Order: sequence, then structure tokens, then C-alpha cells
Amino acid sequence: MQTKDYTENIVDVKKIVEEKKKELRKRIEKLKKKNIVPKLAVILANDLDSSRIYVNNKRKLCKELNVEEVEYILDNDIKTEKILEIIENLNNDPTIDGILVQLPIYKHLDKERILNSISYEKDVDGFHPLNLGKLLSNQDSMIACTPKGIEYIIDSLNLDLEGKLAVVVGRSVIVGRPISQILLNKNATIITCHSKTVDLKKYTKMADILVVAAGSPHLITKGMVKEGAVVIDVGINRKNKKILGDVDTNNVAKKAKYVTPVPGGVGLTTVTALIDNLVTIAERRLKK
Ligand code: NDP
Repeated sequence: MQTKDYTENIVDVKKIVEEKKKELRKRIEKLKKKNIVPKLAVILANDLDSSRIYVNNKRKLCKELNVEEVEYILDNDIKTEKILEIIENLNNDPTIDGILVQLPIYKHLDKERILNSISYEKDVDGFHPLNLGKLLSNQDSMIACTPKGIEYIIDSLNLDLEGKLAVVVGRSVIVGRPISQILLNKNATIITCHSKTVDLKKYTKMADILVVAAGSPHLITKGMVKEGAVVIDVGINRKNKKILGDVDTNNVAKKAKYVTPVPGGVGLTTVTALIDNLVTIAERRLKK
């Protein structure tokens, strides 16, 4: 008896990212011809290994795509006022296109004041309230990198969301809320679930497209998914030295039309989306 191979239902996100990088290289080349090199400023104000890994990944991609990057690695005695001063200088520096503060930051710092002090025009992470507000009102805005990366996946799978039911698990400002809004702007009907949702399965089972950003390893099992659904797994959970998503990928793949893997899924698109945002900001220099 032949067994069906379900791995074809697992989305090849690497391929999607390679296509995106090709497009980015062309845009960066075009800017270089006008003597413009996109430049990113990264502020690291915590001592977590995971944040250092994320910053390393960003640095690597900047190098690969030939864009400039400058880092401010700050000790734990740094004051909010000092970071505000650094950001003010970066806001006023015409050679800097994008500024990001790697989250989380040291607990004693005023996160809100720091994030809000980044000029919304250089807000490469899309966390500034003005950019979030623009997304809410369906205006052109700087979209947070993870939701933007999810959009690459949706677009490359040619998914038509009009009239579809999209369920998002998670309501954080960096993932859950913006992706719900993006899906709404694409004319899907939205349900956003969170930790206080009663009977999560009732909602996930109805979803034509299910986006999971809860930070709970293998929260979503095969029995919680509708036949033929598209499942996008945002979760990154470290367990017994392994990285697990929020979705039980191999089993869900037996039922879903598509499921994104972890690792090698949304995480890859996130950092690519960051460079996409950076290049978009640098392109505005052409119009000045
Ligand atoms: P947060 O902790 O900020 O938010 C998690 C959300 O999930 C909250 O809204 C929470 O509800 C909800 N939630 C948690 N547990 C459950 C549950 N059992 N049932 C229903 N809802 C639940 O996390 P983030 O949004 O920052 O990140 C989510 C996941 O995505 C993490 O694993 C993170 O590591 C990963 N991530 C991955 C990225 C990538 O590039 N691939 C980028 C960013 C994050 P409530 O609001 O009620 O607390």
C-alpha cells in the first residue's frame, strides 16, 4: 500500500524568500546607481542571547544584500534619556534610513517613550503609533516585519482572501493585531483569539486561513484545523534545545492545504521584510 506524502503541503518558505531577495537586490542596485546606499541603525539594549542572535541575523542579511548597518550595543546602566539622545541624532542624520530598537529592552528603560521617539518615517519596524494607525485606516504605512513577511507568503501562494474566514491566534501589537488588520484589509472576515478566548478549537476549526502567534509549542493540533485550510505558524518556542512552532506541523499537514514550517518559515520572511522596509524608506530619498 502506498502512503501519501504530505510534505508537499509544507510551504517552501526559503524559495519565497529567495524570490524576494532577488527583487530587493534589483532595487538596491538601482539606488546604488543614484549613489544611495540604504543604511540601518540597530539599538541593542538588553543582554539576551536570543536578541544577539536576531541582531546577528539582521547584520548578516544586510551584508548579503549590500546595505549598510550600524549597531549601538548598550550596557545595562544606560539611561532612557541617553537612548532618546541617540535616536534624536539618528532621526536627524540624512544617511540613516531606518532605526530599530531590538526588543525586549532592559526593564528600567521607558519602552514607550523610546519607541515613540523614532521618527515614523524611519520606523523600519512599523511599531510607531502613527504607522499602526495608518494600517488601521488602510493607508499606505510602514508595516511591522513579521506581518509583512506573512503577507509575502499569502501573496506567493496566490491566496484570494475575499469572503474567507481568517482566524488569528494572538493579539500582540507586533504580530497578532497588525496581521488581523492586514487580513481585514484584504477583505477576509476576521476572528482574533487570545488567552481569554473560550473554546479556541471552535474558532480555529472554522478558519479558511489560520495564523498562529501565541508562543505556545504545538498549541494547534490536527483536530483543531479545517480540512483544506491554510495554516501560518509564527511561533518560535525553544524546548529541549529544539525550536518548535505553535503548530504540530507534520500532523496538521495531513489535513491542511498548506502549513508553514518552523524553523525555516515565517522567521525567514521577517528579516527579509525588514530590509524591504529599509529599501522603501531609502527610495524616498530619490524623490527629495
Ligand atoms: P506575545 O506573548 O506578545 O503574544 C502572544 C499572544 O498569544 C497574546 O495575545 C496571548 O493572549 C495569546 N495566547 C497565548 N497563549 C494562548 C493560548 N493558549 N490560546 C490563545 N491565545 C494565546 O507574543 P508575540 O506576539 O510577540 O509572539 C508570538 C509568537 O511568535 C512567539 O512564539 C514569538 O517567539 C513568535 N515570533 C516570531 C517571529 C518570527 O519572526 N517568526 C517574530 C515575532 C514573534 P493575551 O493577549 O490574552 O495574553
